[in-house]
Amino acid sequence: MTNTDIMSMTLQEMSEAFEENSIQRFRARQVYEWIHSHLVLDYDEMLNLPKSLRSELSEKFPIIRCSVSGKQTASDGTVKMLYEIPGGDYVECVIMKYKYGSSICVSTEVGCKMGCAFCASTIGGFKRRLTPGEMLSEIYLAQKETGERISHIVLMGMGEPLDNFDNVMRFLALVTDEKGLNISMRNISLSTCGLVPQIRELMKRRLQLTLSVSLHAPNDTIRNKIMPVNRIHNIGELLDVCREYTAQTSRRISFEYAMLSGVNDSDDCARELASKLKGMLCHVNLIPVNEVDESPFRPSSRERVRAFTEILQKGGVNATVRRKLGSDIDASCGQLRLKRNKSEKGGNV
Ligand code: SAH
Repeated sequence: MTNTDIMSMTLQEMSEAFEENSIQRFRARQVYEWIHSHLVLDYDEMLNLPKSLRSELSEKFPIIRCSVSGKQTASDGTVKMLYEIPGGDYVECVIMKYKYGSSICVSTEVGCKMGCAFCASTIGGFKRRLTPGEMLSEIYLAQKETGERISHIVLMGMGEPLDNFDNVMRFLALVTDEKGLNISMRNISLSTCGLVPQIRELMKRRLQLTLSVSLHAPNDTIRNKIMPVNRIHNIGELLDVCREYTAQTSRRISFEYAMLSGVNDSDDCARELASKLKGMLCHVNLIPVNEVDESPFRPSSRERVRAFTEILQKGGVNATVRRKLGSDIDASCGQLRLKRNKSEKGGNV
């Protein structure tokens, strides 16, 4: 973020920035409230600010944020937003309705460098990290568009949140601020492909969020093939830091496991996984992989998923199958951006 990026500033920073520009401090409180409490993202709509101040602010502190470029609603009520970001390109987020409220899946980067073989985010290539304000605007605009109060956040959209560490930490501070959206840290999940040093850094912050780790394989042979990050931080190293994390924070880790037919879904894989996770404060989320045109992977059959789950449970590991929402609108990470980029290049949609 730059030092004029108002949407990424805390109230304190905003007040100081205003003071340096000879703008009265109380104006910062007003602007902060408009943005983070009323979700107003244009100075022109901040009606209690004098017109001259509004134009001064737009010049000195432009509101850097996403703008709505598309919206799809699935038959089950899941909404997918496509946003254009400053400088071009697109990010997406998905809003899912549950019994307990609405949950939003937020993108943290434009594209992704991690290279997971089954993931659409990788195919479009990595462009850049998102600023805290851009991430917040994904949520604010979604709440305005859907009229739903968003109560839960999962950082599981495009990108690797721990590769954008400082911006994501600032985003978390702002979105949990009681003067802003005031979302409880306990209602936030952060998902990583397994960047071990950053997990250790996160651990030190003792946040009450849920850490999700995309495991997707029980051993290095399989994980090396589908997740390049494993060649840098292998499964042993990753599970060690996860154990440390649960010991330090007393928070249960959630392991994501995308079931890829014939790749990672055998009985042997389930047994190996159970033996490695046994005794750990954790839960395994099994997800039949969402098919991506460009990738060869197919989801495991229902019987395979059931058998795999049973082996884990009998092996003493908590495991459930994730309900699939929004699959008729390409609601898996990177799919919608991919579609948009292809159509702009004149490809088939
Ligand atoms: N980079 C982070 C967060 C983004 S992806 C991470 O790797 O965890 C969110 C989750 O969706 C990850 O578990 C990811 O592995 C999974 N995912 C990606 N593509 C998928 C697909 N086609 N089907 C099912 N899950 C997928």
